[in-house]
Amino acid sequence: QQTLKPPHLAIVPSPGLGHLTPLIELAKRLVVHHNFAVTFIIPNDGSSMTPQKKILEAVNLQSISSTFLPPIDLDDLPKDAHIVARIILTMTRSLSALRDSLKVLNESTRVVALIVDVLGSDAFDVAIECNVAPYLFWSSNAMSLSFGFYLPSLDETTSCAYQDMLEPVQLPGCVPLHGRDFLDPVHDRNNLGYKATLSVSKKFKLAYGIMVNSFMDLEPEIFKALKDAQVSQGFPAVYPVGPMIKPSSTGKSDGGEHECLSWLDSQPRGSVFFVAFGSGGTHSLEQMKELALGLEMSGQRFLWVVRTPNETTKNGTYFSSDAQQKDPLSFLPDGFLERTKGVGLVVPSWAPQIQVLSHESTGGFLTHCGWNSALESIVNGVPLIAWPLYAEQPTNAVLLADDIKIAWRVKMNDKGIVEAQDIAKYARGLIEGDEGRLLRNKMKELKEAAKVALSQQGSSTKSLAEVAEILKGHK
Ligand code: UDP
Repeated sequence: QQTLKPPHLAIVPSPGLGHLTPLIELAKRLVVHHNFAVTFIIPNDGSSMTPQKKILEAVNLQSISSTFLPPIDLDDLPKDAHIVARIILTMTRSLSALRDSLKVLNESTRVVALIVDVLGSDAFDVAIECNVAPYLFWSSNAMSLSFGFYLPSLDETTSCAYQDMLEPVQLPGCVPLHGRDFLDPVHDRNNLGYKATLSVSKKFKLAYGIMVNSFMDLEPEIFKALKDAQVSQGFPAVYPVGPMIKPSSTGKSDGGEHECLSWLDSQPRGSVFFVAFGSGGTHSLEQMKELALGLEMSGQRFLWVVRTPNETTKNGTYFSSDAQQKDPLSFLPDGFLERTKGVGLVVPSWAPQIQVLSHESTGGFLTHCGWNSALESIVNGVPLIAWPLYAEQPTNAVLLADDIKIAWRVKMNDKGIVEAQDIAKYARGLIEGDEGRLLRNKMKELKEAAKVALSQQGSSTKSLAEVAEILKGHK
């Protein structure tokens, strides 16, 4: 009887919606196109898991189920522990519960592989112990994966702070990457975040394979270099299977949807500059005011997702919803809402980003460069202004601006502020200026390339089919 059951995959996302979302898309494709069954095993960082539960309930496929691990305690962490340390420690402190869960699952079904995402490779030990093949789903791009492979040797061969390195690092197949643009948890070698990141990077080699949320035509040289590294250095096989993003609707508002969509309905095609900073991004009050001023000065139509300012961190809403905070609109400059009425729309805390990006009125996107946001923009052909805030976003910005050339990166002044006049210039140039034409055209090409990659005979479809066959062969 047991052999008749579909092969089963256990998927373990690290905390944060940005990690869960692409994994759900991966699961759906493996279930629908390759007849797997999937159980999500969700580590619990102690915050409300309601958003995760809601998203998983909405999946509504019989072959996808989920189980939540008991909450762990992070109270002993030092106050300055990096957010990445929190995420990785949530994973490591959940390992024993994960082991129990995997064993129970393994008794009732044929679990062929455990798939974790970027920050979850500590779970590989549990997989190997339970005789289940360990796989990595790299929810970011090939360039940051390449950096992950390279980090352990960089750690051994250098001793200065990476920001102080005089020369950029030349990762195989990548444009030069300066130390200041490394993912931020590695900036301070003494922080728990550094040690945790290094430790998960060292484990990447244990993966039987790595699926990457990118596609061949987006990063051709980097994927080629990763293939070479597989042959010459024994790195795991890498499969470009993206873009995996939540499916978008038509973008047209049909009754009951978010007010910003009906506002977009009444704007001219390609005219709106969309401004949003992911699930966690926040700014200081000074920066928020400068941004407001810049949007106003630009004279462009804009749709801005406004968050309550935060003076201490740039990821103020990653673990806690902005809804609990003060009304974000109350921090806008005096008279801003009245002066920009009709031209701009501000939305507190959260907007339906995919629908916004797929709406024909949207013509440009000021983004924090979270990889989901970048992919959502590429799939919809919307050119970017790159304003990285934390995590691997600076590396993504280098990839988007210097390599793929679909973004301009914002310039900061000595105080780390992006000034209003520059913001105005970016918005105008991107939406209608001659200088933005190259970016707009390149984005259109990539929109098509992404569609082709996911078509029946496309590179990502074939790559996923290849890894699916290998997964089925385990055990
Ligand atoms: N998002 C959204 N509305 C918002 C802000 C973000 O729907 O106002 C979604 C966005 O579409 C994306 C995710 O949240 O799917 C953010 O993921 P990303 O990797 O870009 O950034 P992170 O939140 O992980 O920093």
